[in-house]
Parts: sequence; structure tokens; C-alpha cells
Amino acid sequence: MNVTRLIERKRDGEVLAAEEWAGLVEAYAAGRVPDYQVAALLMAVYFRGLEDAELDAITDAMLASGDRLPHAGSRPRIDKHSTGGVGDKVSLVLAPLVAACGVAVPMMSGRGLGHTGGTLDKLEAIPGFRTGLSLAEADRILQRTGVVLIGQTEEIAPADRRMYALRDVTATVEIIPLIAASIVSKKIAESLDGLVLDVKRGTGAFLPGVEDGLTLARTMVRLGEARGCPTVALLTAMDRPLGWACGNALETEEAIATLRGEGPPDLVSVTLALGAEMLLLAQVATSREEAVATLQQALDSGAAAETFRAVIEAQGGNPSVVDDPAVLSQAPVQRVVGADRDGRVAAVEPRVLGRAIVAMGGGRTRVDQEIDLSVGFVVTAKPGDTVREGDPLATVHAADEAGLELGCAALAEAIRVTDEAPAALPLISHRVSASGVEQYADPP
Ligand code: URA
Repeated sequence: MNVTRLIERKRDGEVLAAEEWAGLVEAYAAGRVPDYQVAALLMAVYFRGLEDAELDAITDAMLASGDRLPHAGSRPRIDKHSTGGVGDKVSLVLAPLVAACGVAVPMMSGRGLGHTGGTLDKLEAIPGFRTGLSLAEADRILQRTGVVLIGQTEEIAPADRRMYALRDVTATVEIIPLIAASIVSKKIAESLDGLVLDVKRGTGAFLPGVEDGLTLARTMVRLGEARGCPTVALLTAMDRPLGWACGNALETEEAIATLRGEGPPDLVSVTLALGAEMLLLAQVATSREEAVATLQQALDSGAAAETFRAVIEAQGGNPSVVDDPAVLSQAPVQRVVGADRDGRVAAVEPRVLGRAIVAMGGGRTRVDQEIDLSVGFVVTAKPGDTVREGDPLATVHAADEAGLELGCAALAEAIRVTDEAPAALPLISHRVSASGVEQYADPP
């Protein structure tokens, strides 16, 4: 294979053949093509784009570079993936909740990077919890508890792992088709019967614009469906944090409160909407109303919290966290921040808060960084709220005085109180499936 020629042709706007992409991805995963050539090709793709046939070939080659989770057991198997944001702890609630309704959920997640948090870090706030399982171990836990919460192992789509790491350092992450191929190849490796995607939009999202979000959703739905995996995407708001807690251990605590029926309303709504799509794909429910009622029953009966306890125990964590959040690491210093004037909350900027968590030691700028899981914010103010001067808006949780100062400065920048509040994005705005795009006037 003449990789230089492939780079030249892509640079000049040619469409490469499926076999050329398949050969390239295979050779790259095997270490026969150097990073610098793939980096140059990725940059050409950034400017020239990819045709559907090229994208299909890349997705299949990334999938073929690793193993698949065996599809054992009789339960339908469904996963959810979120494109990420600030305060997004949905996976921690949704995985045990949907499993408690009779669906197998092999939840594969990532770590926080940049301003967004990651489910693996939130889980690791639970003392002893192990996310680095082999596929065989993950399969055993999935059979036993109906749910397993893992990271992308060496066995799953290693070509994607390598290429994603390269994109991360060569300014080529923001290529919508490659984001889609990267996500879908990993999910198909879980041998799913269905996939639900939570595509975030708004200032705190990876792709803020609604048109980019819809394009990503449509591309992932097409890739999933073409591989025999029914796929549905919801577009949800990330112009403010989801829920109240932002920061790893704080979000785990809030996820547990939600499993116990005490969650913030927006987090509950998004979780129920995604969960209903999962139950519908699993054919455990035949209507959205029935699906929501089934999920609500699993929350009210304590079955969802019980399933979380079982999977924590199976993955080596301390299950008493479900009853006693003090088991989670606590930040040593806290400060409540109040409104500096009467007015309406015009904005709670998620990106500012996410970056502040990184600066306070709770997030990473490099994949190999150690982080402080206890720091972050609990922001109870939501856009549109009416407040009086002095009303509490948020609490900073920090490791020391310097962290408190950073946190308070970030809150002052992120939360704007003005005379009038512009309308926030609808919490759930679109549903994308094989049948097309529906825009919700009145979200479910
Ligand atoms: N998440 C992924 O898994 N892959 C991407 O390319 C971007 C986000």
C-alpha cells in the first residue's frame, strides 16, 4: 500500500475505495503505518470529508480490529451513549434502572477529557470500583446482574483507540463522520440488539450547533442500522449543566439520590426519555407511556437502586455507598455563593464550570493525568429562575483555599443574573431514527 499516494489523493478531493480504507486501518492497527502519515490523512479528511462508502469501510475495519462481547443470555441487550457534557451522570442512573426492567445493559464509557466529565471517573469515586475488566469478566457480570459498567479495553476496536488518541493531539477530533465511526464501532462490538444515543447540543456540548448535532445523530443512526443494530438518537440540551452536581464524586452522589427518587427534575426527565427508548428497542414495552411507567416502578420499588448495589459489589466497589454517600470522597472545603443582585438567571455556562473543575484538579487535560474526584460544584440555579440578592446559587467543593477562589471566580463568570432571561434550549428537542427526524414541540 502506498500511503503517501492515498494522502495525496484524499488531499486532492478523491474518494478512496472501501478496500483502501480497510487496508489502511488494518495496517495502522498492526503498527505498519506511522502516526505521521495517518495524521496527514486525517487532516485531509477534515477538509475533504468522507463519502458513506468510505465511512462504512472505516467503521467495519475499526470493529474488525478487535473482539466482540459474546451475546449470551436471553435478555435483549441495549446500550446508551452520550456525546458528553457537564453534569451528565445519566449513565450511572440509567444502566441499573434499565437493567432492573429486564434488559441487559453493557454500558461502555470513557473518562473525562477537557471540559467534559466521564462516567468511568464518576464510578471510580466509589471506593474499590473496577472499570478495567476483560471482556470475559464483563460478560460474567452482565449475565449475573444484568448490567456491567466498563471502559474500552484493549480488546475492543483497538484501531479506534489508536486513531482517537492521534486525533486528540492533531486537531482532528471534530470530524463528524469519524466521531460517528468511532462511537458506533465500539458499540457494535458489544453485540447489541439496540443503541440509544444522547447527542448534546448547546454551548457546553462537543458540537454546540443543532445542525452539527443532527448530522452526527443521522450518521450514527445510519451506521448502526446498517450493521443490524436498531439505533435511535435524542438531542438534549447542554447549554446549562444537567442536574445540579458537576464533578465526579458529587455527580455519583446525585445519581444515587436519583435512583432513590430524589433526583433533580431535568436529570430525571432525560433519564426517563432515554430509558423509554431503550425499553422500546428491547421490546420490553410497546408504548412510551408503558415504558415510562415501567421505569418509574423500578425506581419507586427500589429495584433500580438494588441493581446498582449488585453491580457495584460485582465490580469490587463498596455497595454501602447506595445508602451512605459519605463513603464517597468529600472535598475538605466548601463555600456557598449567592446572587449579587435581584433578577433572573440568564445563563449557567457549562463550559466555564467544566474548565474550572479541571483547574481545581477534578479533570484532565491529558489522558494519563491523576485527578481529585471530590472537587466540583453543586449548582441549584437554573436559567430562567427568579432570584433575590443573597439567594444561594451554588456551592463550591474544593481541595483548599486556592481551589475555593478558582471555583468562586468561575461561578461569577458562569452564572449571569440580569433583568431578563433569554429562553433556554428545550431539554429534549429532536428524535432521530431510521424513519427520520422528529422535532418535539412538547418534549416527552
Ligand atoms: N467520542 C468517541 O468515542 N470518539 C470520538 O471520535 C469522539 C468522541
